[in-house]
Amino acid sequence: MRLTAPGRAGHRLVLVAVLVVGGGGACASAPPDGASPATTASAHTALPAAPTTAAAPQPTAAPTSAPADTPAVVPDVTIHQDMRSGFAHGPKPRQFQKYIVLHDTEGTGNPQSVISGWDNAGQFIAAHFVIGKDGSVWQTVDMDVIAHHSGFGDTGHNAAYGVPEDGRDDRRGTQPIGSWASDYGMNSYSVGIELIHVGGAGDYPKAQLEALDQVIAYIDAYYGFASPIIDHKMWRTGNSDTSKEFAGYLASYRDHRSYR
Ligand SMILES: [Zn+2]
Repeated sequence: MRLTAPGRAGHRLVLVAVLVVGGGGACASAPPDGASPATTASAHTALPAAPTTAAAPQPTAAPTSAPADTPAVVPDVTIHQDMRSGFAHGPKPRQFQKYIVLHDTEGTGNPQSVISGWDNAGQFIAAHFVIGKDGSVWQTVDMDVIAHHSGFGDTGHNAAYGVPEDGRDDRRGTQPIGSWASDYGMNSYSVGIELIHVGGAGDYPKAQLEALDQVIAYIDAYYGFASPIIDHKMWRTGNSDTSKEFAGYLASYRDHRSYR
């Protein structure tokens, strides 16, 4: 199925909706490769078979009234949707968007198995986007909704990052981890992206990094401004994601929003 998403910058997003009955936690163990339900295979095979005539006419340029900081280049990025209502924790409309938080899943598998793993764990933990080693992109929660991907951060980080807890987050499923990390504001002001990767397991494939470039550009275009990029361990000292082998890429993303 193809449909046109109501992106704010008037750009096109090809969405593939799929229902998956699904079993980990964000940045934690996921089912092994091949553990995803067989029914998900139809999502990929259906995409190229969809009639091109189903797509609505697309604007050729961003509205001239767009904010000056709206990125000039908006990618045509294919995003498979596997939206799970249990991952939604409250409203996060545009005025609350501040950061993009990058994660590693710290487990193997593909996006479908990772998403099912989060759901089956029953802790209501997820990121908005999951990017596979092959560059496939899956979305689990609307960007204007809070997802639990960053968890607790260092005490004092709510103030340091300007992310006060204002009651929009239902905090469902959260468990305190200690007085050293008592701040829970980041999720209410961010979009989370998980890269399927195990730290120490080698470099990130080019396809995965190219997809991350596109997802970041898509998020920037959706909101109309470029949210500062951080990784999970910046929010919580001592976290292992993103990996050491991502350090150069992280510096590059923080500088100019691309791995290159
Ligand atoms: Zn993480």
